[in-house]
Amino acid sequence: MIEFKGLEKTFEGKHGTVHALKDINLKVDKGEIYGVVGFSGAGKSTLIRCVNYLEQPTDGNVIVDGSDLTRISTKEIRNIKKKIGMVFQHFNLLNSKTVYANVAMPLILENAPKAKIRERVTELLDFVGLADKEKMYPDQLSGGQKQRIGIARALATRPSILLCDEATSALDPQTTDSILKLLQKINEEYNITILLITHEMSVVREICNRVAVMEDGNVIEEGTVFEIFSTP
Ligand code: ADP
Ligand code: ADP
Repeated sequence: MIEFKGLEKTFEGKHGTVHALKDINLKVDKGEIYGVVGFSGAGKSTLIRCVNYLEQPTDGNVIVDGSDLTRISTKEIRNIKKKIGMVFQHFNLLNSKTVYANVAMPLILENAPKAKIRERVTELLDFVGLADKEKMYPDQLSGGQKQRIGIARALATRPSILLCDEATSALDPQTTDSILKLLQKINEEYNITILLITHEMSVVREICNRVAVMEDGNVIEEGTVFEIFSTP
């Protein structure tokens, strides 16, 4: 359902060319929780940003639900992006907007009818356990609550893929655990494919089915969590 084929991404920086991704070949199946792990600068963020076309590949292919993003029109890409939700390390909430408005935002942007928005936002806030917070502002919430709002917003348009960019890296261990449980629930109840990146091995161990280990723009290991973490 997500496939990277010979994916390369280079950036022209002040100090020359940076090869952020070097010939990445990976397949993420529908319904799995797939982890990409590695140190800072390994290329993880660039890799998942290629899935929703926030980065355009320099070479190779990114195939989402059978469509090769490098070969289709901007309009078709826009349609595929609707099927992809994203969760961020620092939540990326709009601080001047209420919790309700933050979760509603993707639906407002696609001109959904008000009644539908109300119904969906209520359902989502209920799902993430923050039904009583809709009139509050992000600054009035804890980190874990903010991330729950970020997750609710990412789910608003009923995506089939959820991208998580260091979604628990700003949270304490206990809160991390509760967010990971929420991601698991999303995966199980809605059969949403989750592609997550993290520098924390513990996160991968906790919830991923399969994992790729990245280093310096390369995938150096790939397999089930059992294969990667069992010591020979
Ligand atoms: P990770 O998410 O694993 O920390 P990144 O994908 O963010 O790694 O970065 C991989 C490499 O690409 C790093 O060397 C980083 O500095 C470089 N890089 C990422 N984005 C840009 C950019 N927009 N311009 C120049 N270099 C970039
Ligand atoms: P703005 O003042 O810029 O419209 P708001 O944060 O007040 O921003 O709200 C954005 C949208 O969300 C509006 O359509 C508003 O009617 C709706 N909205 C905000 N809070 C609620 C709420 N608690 N219940 C229903 N709709 C809400």
